[in-house]
Amino acid sequence: MFKDDCLFCKIVKGDIPSNKVYEDELCCAFYDIAPAAPTHFLVIPKDHIGSCGEIDGSNSAVVAHIFEVIAKVTKDMGVTDFRVVSNCGERAGQSVPHLHFHVLAGRDMTWPPG
Ligand code: AMP
Repeated sequence: MFKDDCLFCKIVKGDIPSNKVYEDELCCAFYDIAPAAPTHFLVIPKDHIGSCGEIDGSNSAVVAHIFEVIAKVTKDMGVTDFRVVSNCGERAGQSVPHLHFHVLAGRDMTWPPG
């Protein structure tokens, strides 16, 4: 369930503080410590999954749940236009190896991402 040396597992356990915006039995959402947009929070599964590359039939239900949570939290915040990003692997920009979805809003977004 938890990985001992994982930063986000430590946030789930409460060993490292975070500014939470949502929590339930399966996932939690908290503001990014280095925001890349006026609104920038992360949604993570509580169970350790390394990245999008580790999603399979045994753990994919939480991903659907996370997208429901993203829709609910953004609605509650009054945010209608937002981007959801999950970096998978160092070359794609992943710095924390625990599956997370960035939710970014509050500014114009460009495409393609860098
Ligand atoms: P990524 O680089 O896609 O793996 O995203 C990891 C994100 O976690 C980055 O945007 C970091 O700013 C963010 N981050 C790292 N440590 C913390 C922390 N203690 N609390 C909140 N966000 C964090």
